[in-house]
Formats: sequence, structure tokens, C-alpha cells
Amino acid sequence: MTLSLSKVGARENNVAAFLLAQGGQPSSKTGGNQKPWYASMRRCGQINFNERDPLTMDVNAWGDYWASLKVNAVLINGGGIVAFYPTNVPYHHRSQFLGSRDLFGEMAAALEKRKLHVVARMDCNYAYEEALKAHPEWFERNRDLSPRRHNESTWLFKTCMFSPYFTEQMPAIYREINRRYHVAAYFTNGWPSTGTLTVCYCENCQKVYREKVGGIPPEETDATNPLYRKYYKVFMAQVVEVWRLWDSVAKEMRPDSVYVGNLGGGIRTVKNVKTLSEVAAWFNADHQGRAGDTVIWDCAQQGRVAQSVMNGRTITNVTGAYSNSRLTWRHTAKAPAETTMWLAQIAATGMVPWFHWLGGSPEDTRWREVGRSFFNWLAANEAHFRNRRSIADMAVLYPQSTIAFYKSGTGPESWRGAERGQTSDYLQGLYYALLEGRFLFDFVHEDDLVSERLKKYRALLIPNAAYLSDKQCEQVREYASSGGSVLATFETSRYNEWGDKRKDYALADLFGASIAGEVIGPRGNSYMRIEQRHPIIDGFEGTNLLPGPENRLPIRAKETTPLTLSVVPYYPAFPPEMVFPRTPRTDEPAAIFKQKGRSRTAYFAGDIDRTFWRSGSTDLSQLIQNAARWISGDARPSVSVSGEGVVEIFAWETEPGYALHILNYTNPNMTRGFLRRFYAIGPLKVEFTTAAKRKINSVRALRAGRDLPFKQSDGTVRVEVPAVDDYEVIALT
Ligand SMILES: [Zn+2]
Repeated sequence: MTLSLSKVGARENNVAAFLLAQGGQPSSKTGGNQKPWYASMRRCGQINFNERDPLTMDVNAWGDYWASLKVNAVLINGGGIVAFYPTNVPYHHRSQFLGSRDLFGEMAAALEKRKLHVVARMDCNYAYEEALKAHPEWFERNRDLSPRRHNESTWLFKTCMFSPYFTEQMPAIYREINRRYHVAAYFTNGWPSTGTLTVCYCENCQKVYREKVGGIPPEETDATNPLYRKYYKVFMAQVVEVWRLWDSVAKEMRPDSVYVGNLGGGIRTVKNVKTLSEVAAWFNADHQGRAGDTVIWDCAQQGRVAQSVMNGRTITNVTGAYSNSRLTWRHTAKAPAETTMWLAQIAATGMVPWFHWLGGSPEDTRWREVGRSFFNWLAANEAHFRNRRSIADMAVLYPQSTIAFYKSGTGPESWRGAERGQTSDYLQGLYYALLEGRFLFDFVHEDDLVSERLKKYRALLIPNAAYLSDKQCEQVREYASSGGSVLATFETSRYNEWGDKRKDYALADLFGASIAGEVIGPRGNSYMRIEQRHPIIDGFEGTNLLPGPENRLPIRAKETTPLTLSVVPYYPAFPPEMVFPRTPRTDEPAAIFKQKGRSRTAYFAGDIDRTFWRSGSTDLSQLIQNAARWISGDARPSVSVSGEGVVEIFAWETEPGYALHILNYTNPNMTRGFLRRFYAIGPLKVEFTTAAKRKINSVRALRAGRDLPFKQSDGTVRVEVPAVDDYEVIALT
């Protein structure tokens, strides 16, 4: 099966073809305002070849499958570890089963015949021993200078990002593919990722450490170490440089081609996603599924993190159709309900679903219909997934540095975030409370707190952003002084972006509080005493005490604000004879609530968000929800959904109108996968505020496939959604 269809001619032909596609004007003016092809991509698929696939793979059957999903693009393996075409690049290992086939070229042709874009999926992370022998400088080294073998496929060796493997060998491979095939984009598996930095001892890296870092950096994340701080900057700069190089190589033959790196990590990122977004024309989140007791909304969180830095530019999220969990089975399908809910979250958050299977000759084909059914539904309703902007009116600060680097406290009770759970637990607790309260919110990255971005939100919620730069603190202060409201917890603004401790919070004036001592905790069985009525303490009739946070900062009020919640310090929880408060009443504030003009501030001195996450306390969830509601002011929220069930909501202004997305998480497997089936909820009453004078003519439930009766008055559309099984999208046009 030799196919020439995908093989393209001279470089000029490609440029001309591109320019023609841009409007037929091959002049230097074209291309500027035109969006690249991937900007309008709505669905994509990936078949991940294995080395043996050339023996059995039926490219036309695969082409038909992907076409049946109405995808815009398909990722197929080009090379890197294994070349799936007859490469001539030295040390680019040809599949030992390739024979006379050109699997990449055949598959590319099959896709092109079906008018699907071809994305070359590459792997830059490992190479064979043959390459190691010829180019020892390409490879990562341990401290003893031994090369790093793959832990399962031990005949492969880890390549180094600071070596010519990345700056010469990979570009040579891309250029060969560029010359031979019509490729719309390149993607690299695994690199750069958003996870921890690697430390390598190869000669190239040793030189970097000597010349740019000033010493060997620590192997573990440690932002207290000056060498780590320098290395972090050098490492990120190298990622950006390699990304730019590969993107420029991708564009050598086709100006609308693009290089796409592998990101992801959900809310747990170490590498700065804002920095990465500045080189990423397309953000791919390799966030394929959840494991063990990961919550079901983990994928929606990935969408929010990516949106916080891409602001509507292309984001894809991979969904593993195979069973990726704690224990991964690469060749059996995941539960259909789980896969569907993952895809639904991708669509709800405005990302593009990328459906993924491994191996060209599957023995389990159950996953195929799961993807086809969801993708065909998406395609039939495509216009409603073309979002213009989120209409959320609350923002949650995504605390990148705190999540990456946070350590709290000093002395005997000091701890690393990771040792007492995760540094993302504060965000997770706030998130869960907002989800229970049906709030509509966006994430805003801490490096993007500009007034242009924040002004649409009436409140900014800050889940223990302990590490914030002076500039970021100033931006939060400006937001508040221009009328925005702020909720913050625990050590927010106590440290600079690298964790150097300040004498007091940088936001002490905003909080109306000063730090009066070191962190106290972790301690259970401490409390908050209700001292007087306040909207934030509504709904707690029948108790004078609320559960206290596990950790707190002792604070002093800066102004004479009324004491609303006071601290009742820890006392023994066991044995029962000993369980009585030694200090039943203090005048130490557990929180400070302030109002200045339109701006309201609620500051909690304890880690109530994290404590809620760890304990599941309904009181703490209620307290967080009350605080979020109070700081948002007295106006009605732009969207409300009432009725039974645990749901997450997203609302977008779309090209045809508006879309309200309702994800039904009401499920015994909400916090432990996999979903087995769905439990329908409804009816739900929806109130949706549209732009003034925007007349709505039709309201349609896209999953149910039916029009819904509605009323519109005073700019609000009222509609009852009879039932939501897995997911519903209410389209207002
Ligand atoms: Zn190295």
C-alpha cells in the first residue's frame, strides 16, 4: 500500500495552498487576521500506534471510524522513539515490523481522503541504545552518570531537554516528515508536562548548572533553595525555547501548522501554565481520566485552569477510552458512563474533546460507540459549543506558586504541603463548596490579575494563596479599591512568590487583620464561636459553636470591627472526661468581615477551605457558601439552578446565543471512580439573565433534544428543565 496522496511537493506549493485557503491572495497581507485551522476545531481523535501495528493495521477501517465521529483532526504516530515511516534520519529507530509499509503515510492518506487534518504525534522522551552509543550527549544521566532506563521498557533511555536531541535530532525528524507528508500539526507525548522539574547530571546539564544556575539544583521541589529558584527560571526558559524552535520548524512548510506540547495536571501544576500559555497557540491537556478516589470534577478543573491562561484560545483535553485508573489497563475499555462524563466536562468547560485509543488492532471495541455517540451529538449541536465568553461573575484565583511550592510555618510544627495532603487542598475545598452552592465562576491565574481581566467579576475568591508577589498583591488591592469584593483564607499574601516570609500579610490593610503569631495546628477539636449575627453566619440557629479550622494564624484586628466569629482553642477530644474547653471564650477573631463602599471583604484566619475538604464538614461548606454569597453583593446571580442533585454549572455566551451546561454528578461514584451509571435528577428550575434587550426566541435542551417552554421578563429567562440524566445543555437563542 504505497500511497502518494499525502506526500506533497515543493515547499512553495504548500505556502501557495495555504495562502489560497486564506482567501486566494498570495501576498504578504494575508494570514494576519485569519484564524488557523485548529482555532475552529471542535473534535479530535487519536490512535496511538504500537511498534507491531504495521503487521495488522487497517488504515481505511480506522479512517472510517474517525470520520464517523465527525472529528476535525486525528493524531497518529510519526516517530521519535519509533518511526512508523521509512525514515532516513540516523538513529531514528524504524519499527522492527515496518517491513515495506509506511504506516504513517498510509494512515495520513486515509485521513486526508476523508478531509481530516493529520497531526503527527511524536515522542521526544526516549531513544534506543544504538543512539545512546553514538550520541551519549543526548541522554539524561543519574548522579553516577549512568543513563536513565525506562522503568518498564528497559531497553529505552531517557533523553535530555538541554541536549542536541531536542534542538537537532527532533527538528531533523520534523523536517523529514514535513518534506514527505502533509501534516497540519506536531504534538509531543509527555513533554514538557506541568509536573515537577527533572534534574539531570549529563554534561550539558552540568554546564547549565555551572554557568546559569550557580550550582547543582535540589532534586525535589524546594523554592526555599536559591539554586532551585534559579533552576526553575532556567528550566522554564529552556522549555519555552524548545517549544518556539519546534513551532518554527513545524511552520517551515505550512505557515498554519503548529507545534503542540503536552500539558495537563489538572489543578496540580508545578511548571507555570501562564508562562507556557504564552508560547502555546494550542493548549493540550493530557488529562485522560481519574484514578482511585479522585473526584469526578477533576476534568472540569482542568478546563478551568487551561481557560484561565488561554482565554478562549484552543484547548484540547485527551480522554482515554481505555481503562486508565489506579491500575491501568491499556487494552480494555473504561466504563461508558465515566468516559461520557469526562467528555461532557470537556465540552462544558469550552475545551475540545480528543478521544484516544491505544493499538491499531483492538480486541475490545466497546469504547467505539461511546465516543461516536457523544461526538455525533456534539457535531449535531456544534454552534452551541462555539463560545464567545464565559458569563460567570465570580472569579477564583488560581494560586499557581502556592500549589507548586507551598510550605507553611516554621519550627517544630513546620510542614511541607505535600506531607499533610496536597497544596491544592485549599482550592479543592473552596471548589467543592462553590459546587454545592451552584455558583458560576471562572479561574483567574495569579499572573493575570490585570484590571481588564478582573473587572467583569463582582468577587474574587482566594483559597490560601500564601505565595503572592508584591505586584499580584497590588493588583488584588486595586481590584478591591475599584469596588471588587474579596474572600481570602489562611496565609494568603503572607509570603512572596518564592516563599520568603513577610512580617505581615501584604494584604493586611485589605483583610483588616495583622498576623499576631505563628501558625497553630494541625489540631482537631477547635472551634469558632458565633459572637453576633451576620449574613455569613445565617442558617446556624441552634448552635453557638462551629467546627474550627485544623490550622489557623493568630490575628489582631487592625480596625475596630465587630467580633463576629471568635476562636475557641483546641482542647482534648479523648477521653470523654477530658473533653471540655479550657478557654471557652477569647477575643481572637477567627474571621473578619468588612465593607467599604461596594467592596466587601471576608477574611478567614484559618484554613477553613482545606479543613472542609479533609473533613467534609457541612457547616464549613455552608460558611464558605454564605461568605461567597455575601461578598457577591445583593444583586441576583446571573444564573441560578434550583432543584435536587449535585451539579456543576457553566454558562457561556455562544455564537447563536447562550448555553447553560449542567453536569450531573449525583452519583455514588462521584468521589471514587468509575461511574457505573447515571442517576437522573430533575425537574430543575433555571433563571438565566441575558444581556439587556436580548430577546430569546427558543430554549432547547440539547441532550434531551427537545424545546422547552420558557418565560422571559426583565432580562431574565425562566425555564424548567424536566430531567438531567448525565449532562444537559440548555441553549437559549
Ligand atoms: Zn541533561
